[in-house]
Amino acid sequence: MTKGNINVSVENIFPLIKKFLYSDHEIFLRELISNATDATLKLKHLANIGEATVEYGNPKIEVRIDKEGKKLHIIDQGIGMTAEEVEKYINQIAFSGAEEFLDKYKEAGKDAGIIGHFGLGFYSAFMVAEKVELITKSYKEGTEGVIWTCDGSPEFTLEPVDKTERGTEIILHIAEDSTEFLEESKIRELLTKYNKFMPIPIKFGTKEVNDPDHKPETKKDKDGKETTEPQKKTTVDNIINNPNPAWTKLPADLEDKDYKSFYRELYPMQFEEPLFHIHLNVDYPFNLTGILYFPKMTGELNIQKDKIQLYQNQVFVTDNVEGIVPEFLTMLRGVIDSPDIPLNVSRSYLQADGNVKKIASYITRKVADKLKSLFNENREDFEKKWNDIKIVIEYGMLSEDKFFDKADAFALYPTVDGKYYTYQELFDKIKDNQTDKDGKLVILYASNEDAQHSYTEAAQAKGYEVLLLDSPIISHLMQKLESTKENITFARVDADHVDNLINKDDTKISKLTDEQQTELETILKEAIPSEKFMVQLEAMDSDASPFIITQPEFMRRMKEMQATGGGG
Ligand code: ADP
Ligand code: MG
Repeated sequence: MTKGNINVSVENIFPLIKKFLYSDHEIFLRELISNATDATLKLKHLANIGEATVEYGNPKIEVRIDKEGKKLHIIDQGIGMTAEEVEKYINQIAFSGAEEFLDKYKEAGKDAGIIGHFGLGFYSAFMVAEKVELITKSYKEGTEGVIWTCDGSPEFTLEPVDKTERGTEIILHIAEDSTEFLEESKIRELLTKYNKFMPIPIKFGTKEVNDPDHKPETKKDKDGKETTEPQKKTTVDNIINNPNPAWTKLPADLEDKDYKSFYRELYPMQFEEPLFHIHLNVDYPFNLTGILYFPKMTGELNIQKDKIQLYQNQVFVTDNVEGIVPEFLTMLRGVIDSPDIPLNVSRSYLQADGNVKKIASYITRKVADKLKSLFNENREDFEKKWNDIKIVIEYGMLSEDKFFDKADAFALYPTVDGKYYTYQELFDKIKDNQTDKDGKLVILYASNEDAQHSYTEAAQAKGYEVLLLDSPIISHLMQKLESTKENITFARVDADHVDNLINKDDTKISKLTDEQQTELETILKEAIPSEKFMVQLEAMDSDASPFIITQPEFMRRMKEMQATGGGG
């Protein structure tokens, strides 16, 4: 038996590991299963390149709880380790890796958000275990099994052990304050959260299913009554993951229904179908795969619970993709998988990272391209979806200039009577007859069709187009358009008399006498708050509306912008 000190220079790493990221203790399981997966994939590689003695077979990883013994087992059938390799990889490399990681990040504590998602590795086991045993046998012929134990002090033991099968078993003796990790429901929850799409099957317990070889027979008794014998059951491994999730496949191999069923796999509690998907797939200058879905978005900018999930080689990392995906796209759903996103760094570092920036602009471009092709391929369908997707598009136009430029081709401006124009189409339609006295193009719109109905009617009677713009951020977008497009202005139909908005010259005769007008004006001015509205007694064309009350565009926009949180 060998005894030794892992590293005399740092005696205090274990208490530190225990304390580290106290809210994130659960990641130990992901780390150990990642190691088991790596070890299995390495074996697969060796088998593929024809390394003689290796038989790959159908390896799996098993997680087993021993509640009475207060132990958690993680067992793989991967390459295993020889005694020398344990000495090297566990005692030296893994240990100094963990030490270095802690050194770097212990100060940062839990501020991080993303810090701690990766890096601590094997030694994260000591966040929950008071003692760890590692029993392993290398795939190499003629090697012996070894057992390594460590009780959370820098001392370890290493000795030969009887082990016949290749691979590694990690046994965690769960500490008193971590007994939640002996609960089946807790472990199942963690496996589902972190390992749902890992590439090697993970077994957790067994389950009863119908025996596929048994077809129950139906017999007739002497009275002619039919009875069917009971279906035989059989016990099979309970595999908790899908090792081949849709995003790892080629778009050409997937149909629309595959994307939809993957959506349900990702969000089992989500019953609404997505509107459409975007399959991401790039291998230069960075690696990234994924599928994004546009969910139905009903007007509100609310924070959703089903978010985009970030994976690294099929290992779940986080569902907080802030800083990686442009903000306006965080409203989408789906997965992004990339080995090129540095994960054990702080968010501010992440935002400055060159690769991450490239990834963000790639995703933005793909989303814009997809929207454009949907628009080109089936405009009618696109128009139908507009109400559900406009919030993302308008938000994107406001926050990303590149997206703004691309969106010009497919962003739609609906009218109160149900037509949909692109900006160019709208421009061509109104350029000759909707200008004000300074020659500025006036884009009329209503934000609430019911409330502004009579104004809308008056404008339509003159042959003007009235848009229906009602999303919560539209006033920011109008400002952006006014500053980007030349010589245009938006005016809500009730901002002033429509004749004042479009051109000033024709005057109207009121149906009221001068006296009646003065009287009415005094009453109205008392009743209506002057800081909000302007009372104008101007003649309208219809008998139903003898005068109009207007709210100046600037007053209203100021109020709206305050309500939606300022500039865009
Ligand atoms: P990393 O996985 O980043 O290399 P870890 O601390 O998680 O760091 O693991 C250190 C090393 O220990 C691994 O690189 C691997 O060589 C070895 N190792 C850990 N777990 C296993 C395992 N289940 N089977 C084989 N080797 C393992
Ligand atoms: Mg690891």
